[in-house]
Amino acid sequence: MASSDPCIISVAITGSVPRKKDNPALPVTVAEQIESTQAAYEAGAALVHVHVRNADETPSSDPEKFAAFQEGIRRHCPDIIVQFSTGGRGRALEARGSMLHLKPDMASLATGSVNFPTIVYENPPDFVRSLAITMRDNGIKPEIEVFDLAMLYNTANLVAEGLILPPPHVQFVFGVKNALPARRDILEFEVAKLKELLPGATWTAAGIGRHQFEVASWALEMGGHCRTGLEDNIRMDRNTLAPSNAALVTHVVRMAAEHGRPVATARQARALLGLPAGAPGVAG
Ligand code: ZN
Repeated sequence: MASSDPCIISVAITGSVPRKKDNPALPVTVAEQIESTQAAYEAGAALVHVHVRNADETPSSDPEKFAAFQEGIRRHCPDIIVQFSTGGRGRALEARGSMLHLKPDMASLATGSVNFPTIVYENPPDFVRSLAITMRDNGIKPEIEVFDLAMLYNTANLVAEGLILPPPHVQFVFGVKNALPARRDILEFEVAKLKELLPGATWTAAGIGRHQFEVASWALEMGGHCRTGLEDNIRMDRNTLAPSNAALVTHVVRMAAEHGRPVATARQARALLGLPAGAPGVAG
């Protein structure tokens, strides 16, 4: 059934894999990230998903970089939802949550391990639990990253145990080589199970690479939220590099209009996700 509820657009600005040589528009330094996020916010993104990099573009876990990004973006876009990545590539387990004391609005949390194109994305049970507890105790809402169906059931168990506060926000990820393929019937099944297991949960669908806009169209039709950004997809289409994160967001805004879905402002997105109206320390 079609939905006319507002759609939250998340923008994953950098990630850990794309390089500037793949797409010169990729923001790598914190200053570039803040500028790119502000443009994406002005284009319609309400949530920014952040990885930070070293000068040589390798993934960084430096809390100072996360802090500088958060401070900078809150100056320019006080109500944007800031989500830090606790994702794996190139980072030791103990480093992946080392910036959570900065209390971003949200942080990503994968509730199981999965194969990625060339590595195992390792999330052992004790590690998942300790990240969930750190997030809960710092008032950070997790975005549960579901790469595989077991991760949804693990989430329900963590909610039942009180390690994740209900209702959770879940992101279904498609199109990562060696994980789930981009298939609408799989998303439909996952959403049906989510509704059964975790009533009131919100969800986003993310498609990687050439699947991005196709997966976004399913989410728009099914009442979910969308993710875009150069972390997941560096092209507008097969022949054209995306000129910016904002250009990808603009494309999804257009798709939302075609599907009769209003785009959530950051303030509306905060209400939909049960987050405080303004970032800590910001009036309103
Ligand atoms: Zn990420």
